[in-house]
Amino acid sequence: MASTTHPHAFHFATPVDSYWEASADPLGTETPALSGSETCDVAIIGGGFTGLSAAIELASRGVDVRLLEAGHIAWGASGRNGGFACIGSHKLSYGAMISTYGLDATRHFHRTMTDSVHLVRDNLVRHGIDAWASGDGEVTLAHLPSRMQELRDDQAYLLKTFGEKTEFLSADDLRERGLWGPKFYAGLKGETGFGIHPLSYARGLARAAAKAGAKLHAHSRVIRWEEREGAHHLFTSGGRLKAARVLVATNGYTPEDVSPRHADRIMPALSSIIVTRPLSEDERQAQGWTSSLMAYDSRKLLHYFRLLPNGRFLFGGRGGTDASNAGGEAYRPILTTAFHQLFPEWRSVDITHYWRGFVCLAYDLVPYVGPLDGKKTVWTALAYHGNGVAMGSWCGRAVARAMTDKAAHDEIPKVLTRRLAKFPLAAFRPLYLKGAYLWYGWKDAR
Ligand SMILES: Cc1cc2nc3c(=O)[nH]c(=O)nc-3n(C[C@H](O)[C@H](O)[C@H](O)COP(=O)(O)OP(=O)(O)OC[C@H]3O[C@@H](n4cnc5c(N)ncnc54)[C@H](O)[C@@H]3O)c2cc1C
Repeated sequence: MASTTHPHAFHFATPVDSYWEASADPLGTETPALSGSETCDVAIIGGGFTGLSAAIELASRGVDVRLLEAGHIAWGASGRNGGFACIGSHKLSYGAMISTYGLDATRHFHRTMTDSVHLVRDNLVRHGIDAWASGDGEVTLAHLPSRMQELRDDQAYLLKTFGEKTEFLSADDLRERGLWGPKFYAGLKGETGFGIHPLSYARGLARAAAKAGAKLHAHSRVIRWEEREGAHHLFTSGGRLKAARVLVATNGYTPEDVSPRHADRIMPALSSIIVTRPLSEDERQAQGWTSSLMAYDSRKLLHYFRLLPNGRFLFGGRGGTDASNAGGEAYRPILTTAFHQLFPEWRSVDITHYWRGFVCLAYDLVPYVGPLDGKKTVWTALAYHGNGVAMGSWCGRAVARAMTDKAAHDEIPKVLTRRLAKFPLAAFRPLYLKGAYLWYGWKDAR
């Protein structure tokens, strides 16, 4: 069993039927499955943004590193997300964060999120990755008139607390900027985010990791983990890997049975996406949406959407708790209806792709980066709360630095290095989520 909460959702041998799989650059590097007995200093479990970023950093520092990925490289969330390289990655409010960790630590965390978006841009340049970078900024759209004041309050708060400049957009401004829909009442535009092709980005990171000297093994699912004589022994169906240290970079796909130190500490949650056929210029004008900004609505159970550089439209949403194929088919009309309500002119436009994947929540609603054992031989970085394109890249690099340099651990914002707490009554996690969705659905409607 791969997950205690979603045992039927782990088809590692099959790529998800996403638009990204249909359009990504080829991987362009060898990733043979692990075979026989091998040894290394650091073994990384998981080949998404976190694991690949860590592999680049470790290999560049001369560490003997191998990465084991159960599917193909970026089979998990990294190959199937919306491609929003944006600020986010926490569900704890800034007010609560300041109460718990203090103002300085919260500011440090906020700066780090901005840095993480710049890191993605730097990675594209440094490693020569063509990942369809597009758009300049992100916008949150008030989905009810009552949310307009909240956006104004957010604007004042972000400026006062973090010095973050944003722009308030009235309904007329939205129409002028090509951000129009009949259910958007105002917007708050931030300057930092941009869009990418996530699978091409992940494949570019994999090439960079291999070039730096990391050995990447796809189709190498860790099915057993033993610790003896001061070493870690990871078993796949074809081989075994002995390592002095292990980095678990499995986020929403974390196998709690294989990695018991994670048990009860994370909550996978589904996010789903549809992509349309390319829209003509006339169709975009007819709807009033011509912008390439990364966009969200102001719901707690938010929708996220963006025009891709080739004119297709991507629309995603959080919700649904049944990860089986039947659950996916049941959720599809819910997402499609939401899309049609927000973009009614595109009601008859073909939707060519629909897929889903897991994001990862932590009990205290912020990501975690750090060790999981007293001897610091097992590390992890995860729980980006559905916003890990940028933060997964940053945290993967940060955890690798902390594993090789004690001082680097102190440079990570304190918000990210507190103890990774267990969910109380963790067996009821799926019920928590159902309850939260009902509550948020009710709040989002008023
Ligand atoms: C539909 C969707 C939309 C999203 N949209 C956005 C977005 O627009 N912007 C954003 O910032 N974030 C988004 N996210 C979140 C983002 O994709 C993730 O936070 C990020 O990709 C996490 O990267 P990761 O490397 O930590 O984990 P993952 O990419 O999930 O990688 C974990 C890997 O671990 C592997 N694994 C699991 N068990 C084992 C094992 N036993 N042995 C070996 N390997 C194993 C899995 O196969 C998987 O590939 C979205 C997520 C989803 C699902």
